[in-house]
Amino acid sequence: MAKEDYYKLLGVDRNASDEEIKKSYRKLAMKYHPDRNKDDPQKAEAKFKQIKEAYEVLSDAKKRAAYDQFGHAGVESGMGGGRYGGGFGAESFSDVFGDMFGDIFGGGRSRGGAQRGADLRYNLELTLEEAVAGTEAKIRVQVLVACSECSGTGARKGTSPVICSTCHGHGQVRMQQGFFAVQQTCPTCRGTGKQIKDPCGKCYGQGRVQDTKTLSAKIPAGVDTGDRIRLSGEGEAGEHGGPPGDLYVQIQVKDHPIFTRDGANLYCEVPISFPTACLGGELEVPTLDGKVNLKIPPETQTGKMFRLRGKGVKPVRGGPVGDLLCRVQVETPVHLTKEQKELIAKLNESLMGGGKHHSPQEHSFMDGVKNFFDKLTG
Ligand SMILES: [Zn+2]
Ligand SMILES: [Zn+2]
Repeated sequence: MAKEDYYKLLGVDRNASDEEIKKSYRKLAMKYHPDRNKDDPQKAEAKFKQIKEAYEVLSDAKKRAAYDQFGHAGVESGMGGGRYGGGFGAESFSDVFGDMFGDIFGGGRSRGGAQRGADLRYNLELTLEEAVAGTEAKIRVQVLVACSECSGTGARKGTSPVICSTCHGHGQVRMQQGFFAVQQTCPTCRGTGKQIKDPCGKCYGQGRVQDTKTLSAKIPAGVDTGDRIRLSGEGEAGEHGGPPGDLYVQIQVKDHPIFTRDGANLYCEVPISFPTACLGGELEVPTLDGKVNLKIPPETQTGKMFRLRGKGVKPVRGGPVGDLLCRVQVETPVHLTKEQKELIAKLNESLMGGGKHHSPQEHSFMDGVKNFFDKLTG
């Protein structure tokens, strides 16, 4: 016979809070308690057991997650017998439980059940200035921390977890599947070897509670997008007294309006006027630590790259400080007056009539075009 849906049994929504589940369970448990149903105690007891089972699953965050994903098969505790026999071979059997207790429950449980907490990742956006100079970042993370009420044991204050009755504390059970005997994680205690008879009222036996932590992370100078900073022990609290995981701060450097970074080097484009390009001059260019003067030699072509040594980034992993590479862009003058146009026309005449090549790129380009056509016709 198909089992009734746990949420339906408890009369709650699928997205009911822990508190709602608990409240509903208490109400129903009172209603169906065999002591209160003298007229048909057997029926009441059957119902009571169903409700209790539903509550045991839905009040346990992990069991609930497994139930939400796999339904009853996700939380069944049919060990030692052939409940999964028949249709399931030994292989698919271990697949089902490999998934359930491996992936969902975090995998690799030690024998004692103490399990290291999960590592967490936090994406931190920095400005280029912060990344280059280093900074102290305030980080707020939602994280499972050890329950303060029960010190992470999950058992009500003053009580302790007891030895698991299914596996007698081994955390593992042997299952006979036809000819195969398979060693599996105990489904009752999920490998901890312990059961909590009287759960802590604050964490409902989880040993961990959701909390918001504010951390201060020292970001060293020179970090770049993709770098990770490990905050040891700031991840999720471990289970059953296991050590906490780590928090990884993943660095993402925002685009900068002026500079583009490539490793230790910085690039920027510097516009220069047509006269400066012709006659040379000095201009101020920005660096991350103030302005510096850049000498433009006469007859500078557009696109020319100037290197300012040591004005780049000091790499976080050591090595020489990078350079600032400035690419100049010669600007064609705009909003010309009649007089200015005439002067340029005069300049042009002068350039054309001097018998010298004044346009190095154009000259070689025109030569190339000539060769191209000569080849076609020749
Ligand atoms: Zn607790
Ligand atoms: Zn057990």
